[in-house]
Amino acid sequence: MKRKVLSWLLVAALALMTGYYLLPGSVRNTQPVFQPVRCAGYQLIIDAGHGGEDGGAVSLTGVPESGINLSIALKLDALLGLYGAAPTLLRTEDISLHDDSASTLREKKVSDLHNRVDRIERTENAVLISIHQNTYQSSKYHGAQVFYSNGELSLPLAQLTQELLRQALDPENKRVPAKIPDTVYLMNHISCPAILVECGFLSNPEEEALLRSDSYQRKIAAALAAAWLQYQGIEINGEA
Ligand SMILES: [Zn+2]
Repeated sequence: MKRKVLSWLLVAALALMTGYYLLPGSVRNTQPVFQPVRCAGYQLIIDAGHGGEDGGAVSLTGVPESGINLSIALKLDALLGLYGAAPTLLRTEDISLHDDSASTLREKKVSDLHNRVDRIERTENAVLISIHQNTYQSSKYHGAQVFYSNGELSLPLAQLTQELLRQALDPENKRVPAKIPDTVYLMNHISCPAILVECGFLSNPEEEALLRSDSYQRKIAAALAAAWLQYQGIEINGEA
């Protein structure tokens, strides 16, 4: 329905523009009559969790989640690039984003999180996908899990992402999106739609091996890319 309206708007705009340039110069005013049509207009921000000295959770074979997060983030960026999307990546290498004045590990971690929040909050029409890996004392838990902040604002993207991860990685995964705990600083200090994806459990032997593999990381990135593209489709056309 909205697509039809858009087509008519475009026809009307073209007709207006044509008529406008046929007018003698003295009749034209100096104001532009035609503003570019904004589609979804979102700026996707991809946050590869942790980095630098802060490796985050460590896998059963001693691999920190920060590298896995970054690898998935870069694959997601590359995939979305094929569709003309240009996401912002908060980091593209194994670094912490702290100020130079931070010296202890704690200070660096706090400064890093403040800077990430700051960059997200300064981005107009931002939507955040934060990438992390899960861990637990017991090795039996596995499966991707999507968390969201800012309630209703983020729920549609969270649901879509959880569903596409289920389809792509494990049809048996019964997890549903959950509200982010209050303890996660970044997700509780931003105002845009935001999801945090725990791609799997580094404490589960089978899933840990998968999460370290290039092919599985690509599957995750493909599911996230599809969720992002479909999400924008929903917002533009009002349909899934
Ligand atoms: Zn993490």
